[in-house]
Amino acid sequence: GTTDAVVTVRGVRKHYGAVHAVDGVDLDIRRGELFGLIGHNGAGKSTLFKMMLGLVPASAGEIRIGGVAVGGRDFRAARRAVGYLPENVVLYDNLTGLETLHFFARLKGAAAADCAPALERVGLAQAARRRVREYSKGMRQRLGFAQALLGKPRLLFLDEPTTGLDPEAIRDFYATLRELRAEGVTMVLTSHILAEIQERVDRLAIMAAGKVQALGTVQALRERMDLPLNIELRV
Ligand code: ATP
Repeated sequence: GTTDAVVTVRGVRKHYGAVHAVDGVDLDIRRGELFGLIGHNGAGKSTLFKMMLGLVPASAGEIRIGGVAVGGRDFRAARRAVGYLPENVVLYDNLTGLETLHFFARLKGAAAADCAPALERVGLAQAARRRVREYSKGMRQRLGFAQALLGKPRLLFLDEPTTGLDPEAIRDFYATLRELRAEGVTMVLTSHILAEIQERVDRLAIMAAGKVQALGTVQALRERMDLPLNIELRV
């Protein structure tokens, strides 16, 4: 049913000229679930994310978060309870990890007191006072994740959150997601790699050419589509 849906997407399209980046998507994200959105480069995942966050307007259709229409008058307030890790987080090399989070906290109107716990949560407490220029790619990715946790969001959108992470860091990352889920946080993440997320998400949608091709639990999708265990959707 839709009663426990925290995000509803109805008939959503995004056209860039002749390009149908998102071509009629219907989707419910249930409260408290970890939802995976998988597809090749160019499938439309990032565009759908940006519309769900109100960063780009939809060409057609409607998206609601907690019952509030994205892009509508009440959305600005609702948006504060939503965390977002973009595909490419812009970081300033000269700031330390902690300064970076203070900067984002000011932008978002989140409490400065959230910054140190967010760093701790992503395993960067020891690196808090080092400059970002000295961070590895994986550390930068984790700093981006920490930024998304500021303001203690109840809903998190994570766009390719494991890019640049080694296998151990990927395991740590999903352990953190499980903690967040235990705290009742709803999460939507994108990936190219089915093998990485299939045992870790509650439900997933497979997106191709701007459309949701299949949606359900991994088990249900496997039965329906005969998905092999370790297919990799990377192009
Ligand atoms: P990726 O894994 O590369 O992020 P994706 O599944 O997120 O892929 P999108 O980035 O949403 O895919 O892109 C979907 C389609 O829309 C692509 O064909 C892309 O070139 C096009 N597109 C996305 N943003 C724009 C834009 N601002 N202007 C024109 N075309 C765009």
